[in-house]
Order: sequence, then C-alpha cells, then structure tokens
Amino acid sequence: MKLWYTTLLAAIISTSATAVEDLRVPGGVAVIPVEADAQPRFNGKPVLTIQENGQFLAVVGLALSIKPGDYTLNSEGQKIHFKVLPKKYLEQRIYLENKRHVTPNTLDLDRIKKESRKQRRALDAFGGKLDSVRMVLPVKGPISGPFGKRRFFNDQPRRPHSGTDIAAPAGTPIKVAASGRVSLVGDFFFNGRLVIVDHGEGLKTMYNHMDRIDVKENQVVSRGESIGTVGSTGRSTGPHLHLGVILNGVSVDPSLFIPEIRSLPQ
Ligand SMILES: [Zn+2]
Repeated sequence: MKLWYTTLLAAIISTSATAVEDLRVPGGVAVIPVEADAQPRFNGKPVLTIQENGQFLAVVGLALSIKPGDYTLNSEGQKIHFKVLPKKYLEQRIYLENKRHVTPNTLDLDRIKKESRKQRRALDAFGGKLDSVRMVLPVKGPISGPFGKRRFFNDQPRRPHSGTDIAAPAGTPIKVAASGRVSLVGDFFFNGRLVIVDHGEGLKTMYNHMDRIDVKENQVVSRGESIGTVGSTGRSTGPHLHLGVILNGVSVDPSLFIPEIRSLPQ
C-alpha cells in the first residue's frame, strides 16, 4: 500500500503540483485522512482506503463529469467536506469512416445499451482484497489520445475521453497493469474486444480495442502477465490500446497510477 502512495506522491511531484489537494479535479482523486477501519462512501458508493505510515487514507475517484465545488465524504457517521477544483481539458477532433460509430442505428443502440449495462456492473463492483496497487505500463508507445480530452466525432460532441490511448502495432502483447481477477471479457460496439480486471476494493483497469484476448472471465492474473494483444476493434481509427483506470465506479487519469505515462511521447 505504502508503495502506491509513494507512486502517487511521485506523480504529484512530476506534475509540479505542490499539494495532494491539487489532485482534487475532475478525473483526479481526493486523498482524505479517515479513521482506522472506516468504510467511507462517496455518492453512495464504497471507497478505496489505503494505509500510509499508520494513517488511513480514503482515495476517492472523481468523475470527469463532476462539477467543481463542495463535496462530502461519509465516513462512519462523520462527514468530511472537501473541494473539487476546476480543470480544463483540451479538445480532440476525430473523423470516422464508419458513420454508425458516430450515429448508431436502432439495432446498434439496443446492443450498446446491453453492453453498457454489463460494463457498468463490472465497473461498479466493490469487493476482494486489494493486493497492491503498484501498476506497470501495459504497452509502450506514443500517446495518441490523452485522458480527459473533450471529444468530437465527425464534429459531433461526445463524452470526454475516459482513458489513455497508447499507439502500438497490432499484435503487441498487453501486460496487465496490476494483479487481480478478470471480471469482464467482451466484444463491444464502441470499445471493441475488451478486458476488465478487478484489482479489489473498487479499483479496476480496462483494456479496449484488443485484437486477441488470451484470458477468460474469473481468471486470476498477475501484474505484468500478458492478457492479449493490441488491435483496432470497435470505434477506433488505428491500432492502439485504450487503457482505463476506474475507482469507485468512475474513470480517473491512468497517469496517477502509472507515472511512466507522462514520459511517453505524444
Ligand atoms: Zn481511447
């Protein structure tokens, strides 16, 4: 656990932020001291806690869609107030040949709805002991789509980018970022072939647009193990890995957990 917090501190230093409060932005995390063995909740959802030098810390994932302002963490009947600061993300314009990936037809919409329910269930799950949150970089390559960018597909506004895109040749092996259990394997309309790995206590990683998947649901995987290969399946313009990191059901900036992302070329 300590190791991970050190990583977080390293991330803070590398972004030249001066305080942990600076990470309290949409797509960031709020790290908040709590009582020992508290089971803090945010927005009704249980939150990851870690221990650092005997101090228990809640690590609250803040959605990209969260409005800056005042929020409350509920911890053992205690209300802890904190502020979410604004953060401006740049925009990205993507042009797609497949018009259905911009404006899906009725059948597609049906499929998308079913898939997003499955995905939501996997991302909202909270259980299992977190072994270690130390993460490795799954694939090396230039960043083709940074986290958080406000996106337009064929000039139509869509949801902001919920992960980090790393470009790599099709067939490049993907290493799982941390140990855990595979909680979802699928072939989805937008995300293509995907794998979600549950690391415990609400922390997950997600791998989209894969070419080959080499793991099955419920399989236990160890950090660094190959789970499949890079591809361009689903809504994608070329071979790349879309890497997502999810905390208490929301997508947060993967570079908070994998500072190495910051040194990849863009
Ligand atoms: Zn992506």
